[in-house]
Amino acid sequence: KVRVRFPPSPTGFLHVGNVRSALFNWAFARHFGGTLVLRIEDTDLARNTEEGYDSILGSLRWLGIDWDEGPEAGGEFGPYRQSDRFPIYADIAKRLRDAGSAYDCYCTPDEVEARRKASGSKVQGYDGHCRELTNQQLQDFVGRESVLRLRMPDEPITFTDLVRGEITFQPDNVPDFALLRANGDPLYTLVNPVDDALMEITHVLRGEDLLSSTPRQIALYRALKDLGIGTGEPRFGHLPIVMGDGNKRLSKRDKGSGLAEYVERGFLPEGILNYLALLGWGIAEDRDVFTMTEMAEAFDIRRVNPNPARFDLKKCEAINAAHMRRLSVGEMTERVIPFLFRAGLTDEPPTDRERARLDAAMPLVAERINTLSESVEMLRFLFVAEDDFERDPEDVAKVLDESGRQVVQASYDALSAVSEDHWTTATIEEALRAKLVEELGLKPRNAFGPVRVAVTGRRISPPLFESLELLGRDISLARHISALR
Ligand code: GLU
Repeated sequence: KVRVRFPPSPTGFLHVGNVRSALFNWAFARHFGGTLVLRIEDTDLARNTEEGYDSILGSLRWLGIDWDEGPEAGGEFGPYRQSDRFPIYADIAKRLRDAGSAYDCYCTPDEVEARRKASGSKVQGYDGHCRELTNQQLQDFVGRESVLRLRMPDEPITFTDLVRGEITFQPDNVPDFALLRANGDPLYTLVNPVDDALMEITHVLRGEDLLSSTPRQIALYRALKDLGIGTGEPRFGHLPIVMGDGNKRLSKRDKGSGLAEYVERGFLPEGILNYLALLGWGIAEDRDVFTMTEMAEAFDIRRVNPNPARFDLKKCEAINAAHMRRLSVGEMTERVIPFLFRAGLTDEPPTDRERARLDAAMPLVAERINTLSESVEMLRFLFVAEDDFERDPEDVAKVLDESGRQVVQASYDALSAVSEDHWTTATIEEALRAKLVEELGLKPRNAFGPVRVAVTGRRISPPLFESLELLGRDISLARHISALR
């Protein structure tokens, strides 16, 4: 039975790399009808925040990544927040020490460094000095602080990575490492494998940046197994590094690295997830756009590409746009409403009047926006209070020059001849074409561009004649006049 885990540390907002790991674990679990465990790795009490915790759960919900065990879901292996598990770690640390798999180390970092310099060794990290202390040495250390270290095996550690194949670490390169701080607090190096073992995790799928900790963790899983805890190491699959601009690893500080940015910009969860799936995996050579359900069905960790994956914002936007095109107008309307509300353009829920306008306008807008937030600028002219209506100054400068204003004047003359009863898209179009194109001989672009900026405030808007109809005769004419002032 497949059991995988997503173990974020709530130090801030989710990063796209975290989300990719969550997604691949989710797809793997769903593919096999297994279990996805959400485990909160919050033992570093100084760095973890309640806000970070809430934001992780909120983000996963927004994405539609559901977990079978964990906070709020419950499960028989809880608690699932590591800050609630300190007694478990203390007990296991004690058992590791009693069994001789771990030992107290009294060295200060300065002493370790001085010995390394004196010996000329190139190996970084601990040299095993406290492995076998005599009683006399122990006496000398009385009163000193100690950390608990795992005794690494003297043989190489080999495992078969599901993505990268066989990997071997030589013992010289993996020094004995600390499990507990001097104050007794458990470290990530202890709690992560301990919980994998206790929670019966079968597969660990995570970023390649964690590969260097894998041999240490494997040594610990084996030591735990000797104590009767767990069954030894899980299978590992290390997902490719995500590269940002300039062939550097995408870092938390890079633009485009935080999930929150995408939420704010009005990306669809299905668009973001689809794009993140492509960072290492693909459903087919000739196909980039798919749903999570399709991913879960087809997902095969052995087909993940080990090479670094480049994060390409343009491609991410294009994939999102493809998912926007898949929404029905009704679905898109529902998703756009919170953005209009936050921009102060509608109530939430919209009033009946706003709703009627929105239903009429969305079919015109749906094809023209690539993110939900783009609807705000497209629809502002229809929902803004008349006193707050403004035109984009750059568009005004470009289009409403002397000749542009003459066009607006001519448009006003033509439209004021259309009565309220005849104010429809077809009549509006007929009147404007007759006046501007036929009579004045203007090219459509030069004819309608100035009118568009006059009534919608921008050079990019929903189709002009429909927009005029939706706006109504009075406001349309009033905006002509204000554009001419
Ligand atoms: N808490 C660790 C992290 O967020 C978990 C790493 C792992 O998947 O083992 O980096």
